Amino acid sequence: MARRFGLLVLMLSACLLAPLTAQTPPAAPQPITAIKAGRLVDPESGTAALNQIILIEGERIKAVGPNVAVPAGASVIDLSKMTVLPGLVDAHTHMAMTYKEQPENNYYYLTYVMESTPLRAIQAASNAIQLLNSGFTVVRDVGNNALYADAALRQAIEQGWLPGPTVIPSGPMIGSTGGQFWPTPEMYKQHNIMFPEYIDANSPDEIVRAVRENMLFGARTIKLCIDCKPWGYSVEDIKLAIREAATGGCKVEGHVQTPAGAQRAIDAGIYIIAHGTALTPEHHRQMAEKGIFLAGTDTPFTAYRGTEAAFKRAVDSLRDAWEKNVPLTYSTDFDYWNERMKDEKTGRWLSRGELTIEFVRTWKAAGIPPADVLRAMTINGYKAADIIADRGPIKPGLFADLIAVAGDPLADIDALRTVSFVMKNGMVYKRDGVMMPADFFHPGPVRMPNGRWTR
Ligand SMILES: [Zn+2]
Repeated sequence: MARRFGLLVLMLSACLLAPLTAQTPPAAPQPITAIKAGRLVDPESGTAALNQIILIEGERIKAVGPNVAVPAGASVIDLSKMTVLPGLVDAHTHMAMTYKEQPENNYYYLTYVMESTPLRAIQAASNAIQLLNSGFTVVRDVGNNALYADAALRQAIEQGWLPGPTVIPSGPMIGSTGGQFWPTPEMYKQHNIMFPEYIDANSPDEIVRAVRENMLFGARTIKLCIDCKPWGYSVEDIKLAIREAATGGCKVEGHVQTPAGAQRAIDAGIYIIAHGTALTPEHHRQMAEKGIFLAGTDTPFTAYRGTEAAFKRAVDSLRDAWEKNVPLTYSTDFDYWNERMKDEKTGRWLSRGELTIEFVRTWKAAGIPPADVLRAMTINGYKAADIIADRGPIKPGLFADLIAVAGDPLADIDALRTVSFVMKNGMVYKRDGVMMPADFFHPGPVRMPNGRWTR
């Protein structure tokens, strides 16, 4: 014990002395990149400026404007025939869950039993690569990720193990007994098969504990099942979760599926409401008044998903939310797979990115102008993800995450279907329509901000 104590003193003195004695190596010069943008979209105002230069130093944007001097030695990327815009956001998705029509009939349970957390983390990594390829530089990943595969995905991308969007993970969804499942006693009591997909939290103490546990293991947002069960959360329960989440810098999203649950979430002042199906025009009015974000998860009617009737309801609800000025985000709830997810003309499998961009169909059917769709896909997404001070807009000081398309998304939102250039953290991920992610791969963790593992 004494020896250990001595060693501890030695280590502590070394720590204290280190800043005084160690020579700080001079910072390596950061690579400079200049992007020539034919049109540069500002989604906040819904306008575009012509012939802009974006100067990038290392990972961040240094200057933007028509007359920015390009330093000697800068590498120049010519996008003068393209429209450049900030990266896109899916504000509600599930990166590490792929439930199947066959053989589990979309019940989820088999996926949970048959697919381990490591396997699902690797699925998430693949989905991340596909989403970045389609221009999604941020995703809010809100539950159903086994035992923190979402937090691991965020860490892996931040450390430089693989390219992908910035991930805002929630950890397991927190709900009252059962979460979204209706497990058998065998699943629940003897084998715990329904875990770790949900954390049961039935009392104030358990809610506090669950929120803290998720934040400890890497959550950057907290996801509550408000009304997945008749014994759902009260206004006071939700307020408690919001207060506790704030201690770790997290905002709270509530899954709602009943009008009464939606009202409780609104009354508690929740940050985001997920799923538009149970919301009435009166809820929309209150959400606009309180500035509560909507992640409507507005599923289009396609050969592989949905019904005409459900689509009409989604379109009408989204339209009403837009008319009432609810802060809208672009969100998909994507988490499934079936045999029909193919390009109707070529028979080629659709990528996760292509499936995600397909949701613009709902927004178009709702008659929402492209500028407003684009704002939902960018600015509102950064705000909902609570990252806008650091990442998203193309402004000096922020991370260089940007994309380019041939068309004009302010005139035709379908222009976003063909993203031919993607930059993330100042590194080119896709150019001339070709993924070139080699620079993103490293033989070890290369980023440890503040000398510790990122959470
Ligand atoms: Zn969801």
